[in-house]
Amino acid sequence: MLRETWAEIDPRRISDNLRAVRGTLPAGVKLMAVVKANGYGHGDLEAAEAARQAGADYLAVAFLEEALRLRAGGVRLPILILTPIRPDQVDLAMERDLTLTVTGADWFRELRRRSPTLAGRKLRVHVKADTGLGRIGFRTEAEWDALVPWLAAPDIDVDGFYTHFATAGQADTDYLERQARRFAELMTRCKESGIAVRHYHCAGSAAALRFPGLALDMVRIGAAMYGFYPARLTPPVPLKPALSLHSTLMQVKRVRQGEYIGYDNAYRAESDEWIGTAPIGYADGWSQRMQGAPVLVRGQRAVIVGRISMDQLMLRLPCPCAPGDRVTLIGRQGGERVTFAELAAHIDGAAQEITTALTDRLAKVYANAKKEAEYAWDNAYYQPRRREPTVI
Ligand SMILES: *Cc1c(COP(=O)(O)O)cnc(C)c1O
Repeated sequence: MLRETWAEIDPRRISDNLRAVRGTLPAGVKLMAVVKANGYGHGDLEAAEAARQAGADYLAVAFLEEALRLRAGGVRLPILILTPIRPDQVDLAMERDLTLTVTGADWFRELRRRSPTLAGRKLRVHVKADTGLGRIGFRTEAEWDALVPWLAAPDIDVDGFYTHFATAGQADTDYLERQARRFAELMTRCKESGIAVRHYHCAGSAAALRFPGLALDMVRIGAAMYGFYPARLTPPVPLKPALSLHSTLMQVKRVRQGEYIGYDNAYRAESDEWIGTAPIGYADGWSQRMQGAPVLVRGQRAVIVGRISMDQLMLRLPCPCAPGDRVTLIGRQGGERVTFAELAAHIDGAAQEITTALTDRLAKVYANAKKEAEYAWDNAYYQPRRREPTVI
């Protein structure tokens, strides 16, 4: 590893999280592990393997390319592609034994125009209903009725029927209940139309963990598998983050009160301060929204000051630390932690926004048992005491 900035990932924690989620589900519910966006930034093949070891029944990705990468990497589990692909890509998808999301009759019309017989093979699909997220899916009974003849074809295998919730992470459950009722109506319609469906599913991480009654035949677990949970809610099982992020101090200097740090003079030293520079920037995925965020150096909190630049950022240090000292941007040093919850609150976003933004320029180091003690850290929702760094 040449870079002095790296993410440490422990796939066993991904497996542990999935086992913990499974433990909360009614017996017989299948588990679909969502490994889109490079396994939420943790590595797609590594996340898929961790899911397999935890007994996942199915994988899901967002796009065809992501599914092809998993197959090329030797992944054998069934894979659902969560967004519709183009009819001209169906051949390739069937060759790799992928399951497709379909949302409307027009798609089938175009598919049949191109390949009326599907070359004697069977196409496995999950039908997506929009019950209120307003993203993708058929919305009306009429749209469903138009789909039925296409789904009834002998070479179409309707492996699933699903929807997705808009507010599963919100404390107020009114809208979620409304969506669940709408989904129940559509399931009834589906059953009445005689289409045999193997898996009805609607719950992602938050819905599955908050409302086991929504687990139906299968749950789609993304965030929770990486240790993430919606802000202000408490998971019913402990979820452990699997990723920590580290860099190294490369320069430390004493600056006088009133001196400027970083582009655009965005920070002016409030007093005489120790300022450190670490080689990580927005081109690594540490966006300018992280200005003002905490990091750890020598087991104490420091703060990112000034604009984060493309390759480097500056820290106001709690002590005259030394070049070579480890800087922890996510994770733990001794008793101090910077948690995903804290960083997500800082950017007014979600933990998965932080990990999926990490770019390939960063090295990824995967856990082995020997290193475990060094970086294992606990609950992502641990809230550290708020403490200002003591500036010398
Ligand atoms: C991303 C995604 C999921 C996973 O959601 P989490 O909240 O991360 O568990 C489930 N279903 C669909 C349709 C998705 O796009």
